[in-house]
Amino acid sequence: MSNSSFERPDRIQFEDADYDFSTLAIRAGQQRTDEGEHNDPIYPTSSFVYSSAREAAARFSGDEEGNIYSRFTNPTVIAFEKRMAALEGGDRAVATSSGMAAILSTCIALLQQGDHVVCSQSVFGSTISLFEKYLSRTGISVTFVDPTQVSAWQAAVTPKTRMFFMETPSNPLSELTDIEAVSTLAHSHDALLVVDNCFCTPALQQPLTQGADIVIHSATKYLDGQGRCVGGVVVGRDAEMEEVFGFIRTGGACLSPFNAWVFMKGLETLELRMKAHSASALELAQWLQQQTGIATVHYSGLVEHPQHELAKKQQSAFGGVLSFEVEGDQAAAWRFIDATKMISITGNLGDVKSTITHPYTTTHGRMTEQAKADAGIKQTLIRVSVGLESVADIKADLLLGLAAI
Ligand SMILES: *Cc1c(COP(=O)(O)O)cnc(C)c1O
Repeated sequence: MSNSSFERPDRIQFEDADYDFSTLAIRAGQQRTDEGEHNDPIYPTSSFVYSSAREAAARFSGDEEGNIYSRFTNPTVIAFEKRMAALEGGDRAVATSSGMAAILSTCIALLQQGDHVVCSQSVFGSTISLFEKYLSRTGISVTFVDPTQVSAWQAAVTPKTRMFFMETPSNPLSELTDIEAVSTLAHSHDALLVVDNCFCTPALQQPLTQGADIVIHSATKYLDGQGRCVGGVVVGRDAEMEEVFGFIRTGGACLSPFNAWVFMKGLETLELRMKAHSASALELAQWLQQQTGIATVHYSGLVEHPQHELAKKQQSAFGGVLSFEVEGDQAAAWRFIDATKMISITGNLGDVKSTITHPYTTTHGRMTEQAKADAGIKQTLIRVSVGLESVADIKADLLLGLAAI
């Protein structure tokens, strides 16, 4: 600490300040130490020490606040949590070891035996398996619905419904759900609305400000943004987050401090990246529409998209993921993918590197034929997560694919 009479507060509470998104993404949550480090510090330690046995006892009993063990709290993880809470506009965030751990922990912490969940049928494949195969064993039941129809959400409600779960826009077809309308419905039935905000991130869409109760992220995708670490986070009100935190510290699905630090570096450029991903994806979607060999393009930024107006209302841009159907059969789609040279063939998304995948046989491969048909996942469908390479180079690569159909 300096003795200067002109002192700046050493710990500004950015969560409370009226700063813009890009400022919060760079500065919220940093706890500068007496070393005066400019960048966020990283604390790779499993446990913490006490000055006395009395202090140790007070920490363990909860009479004194402070770190005990990194499964419970870690300063680097706390800094990431504070930054995420600030960006999503929640009271508090709880970081988790993966996006799936974030979903599991939220359900275990806030639901009990006999409860019912209404879930979009177009959520991430592992989310469907989690509900169908594992949470069902604990007596939590689920009904999957067409995410685009508010009436379908309504029709699925039972007296036991306690949670609505959605992902908007959806993967890979860019289907939207009206967050405000479904939140009103959920609240009229005393149920929580949980939104997996992976595809937009808070840079493009803040579900808590539109009526959602809880936001979930796979930090693995755009929050990292460069394909380095697996992690997740849950954001919401203090009351629910205390329950989620209680489960994480007991159940052990905690985030490592190194991964939290990488995600904080990712957040610093989140807004810039999301704007750039969205601009490139829109340009490519419009361009793909004009190419022969392409039957349909799915991207909510296109004026032809049936929910384009809703996308403009609840998002500030349309995101970096698009999909399209090629003319022909599955073999034509595979020839397209195999003919590209630069774009990575991988199921991951939200990376600076563009990726291309065939959902029918990979990310959605374990769904039944009927479920794929219901969800509109065709054999001719290809998904591209548009990265930050030059748009001209991405087009040139896609032209190789088109020539191979
Ligand atoms: C990847 C993904 C998840 C799961 O996240 P992991 O970090 O892989 O566990 C959940 N939801 C969506 C929308 C995803 O894309």
